[in-house]
Amino acid sequence: MIRVAVFGAAGRMGREVCRTVGDADDLELVAAVDPHHEGIEAGAGLVGVDPEAIAGAEPQVAIDFTQPDAVMANARWCLRHGVHVVIGTTGVGAVDLEELRRAADAGEANAIVAPNFAIGAVLMMRFAELAAAHLDAAEIVELHHDGKKDAPSGTALSTARRIAAARRGAWAAPGGDEAHPGARGAHVEGIRVHAIRLPGLLAHQEVILGGPGQTLTIRHDSTDRTSFMPGVLLAVRSVASRPGLTIGLEPLLGS
Ligand code: NAP
Repeated sequence: MIRVAVFGAAGRMGREVCRTVGDADDLELVAAVDPHHEGIEAGAGLVGVDPEAIAGAEPQVAIDFTQPDAVMANARWCLRHGVHVVIGTTGVGAVDLEELRRAADAGEANAIVAPNFAIGAVLMMRFAELAAAHLDAAEIVELHHDGKKDAPSGTALSTARRIAAARRGAWAAPGGDEAHPGARGAHVEGIRVHAIRLPGLLAHQEVILGGPGQTLTIRHDSTDRTSFMPGVLLAVRSVASRPGLTIGLEPLLGS
């Protein structure tokens, strides 16, 4: 049995993660952390508002689906206390990743950080990377529910970085005057990223690549939060055997 704690347990993702951990034969949900106790699933074991409150539950792996200004404090606590951590919270930047890498290398606990745990999204990013080597230009449109706190999404940032690294030679990045600021989206690694927030959406992304006389659209849709759960389970079961920091789900899939 792997003893699991969940940070952000009352949130949209946290509730789904608690259900999934509770249903898994090889995992035990021993602790749940969230400022909102009332939203936490029954059967969560020890419940608290901060990591110190759940130390007595002795979790082996913690899962964090909180928010950008909370995740690092939780992760630091885990790595200091020998608790492996699986981070799904987006908005963890390069400086924070470096800190996590150093802490994980120096201590006894490991970390996995993945901007997207949906296998289809992992494939979408890989296909976009492959296509970027062959087409002249690309733009990213990411679409999320209206409660999402960060923009652009972690998946869009990661996709932009990967496309930028994969492209060969000169990259066509049409500019043009913006009659209204922001009309052409954000500029990430030389790639335009457009973020849409609407009720009715969950998590979606299109990568549109263009070349002379043709376009290629690669699209992924998460229509339900269950789409992320197989990836979360894979990370929880793998983290103890992956020393240091692992970024993304790809290394766990052998791709
Ligand atoms: P959410 O519904 O706002 O849930 C976040 C929860 O964390 C809230 O209940 C929040 O409480 C709580 N929280 C805030 N600070 C905390 C702390 N210090 N310790 C413990 N809990 C804390 O958000 P969500 O939709 O579940 O998304 C959570 C994160 O996961 C976001 O960053 C999102 O982008 C990311 N995400 C990642 C993936 C992936 O595959 N990697 C997939 C979906 C979402 P308050 O409401 O009081 O702030």
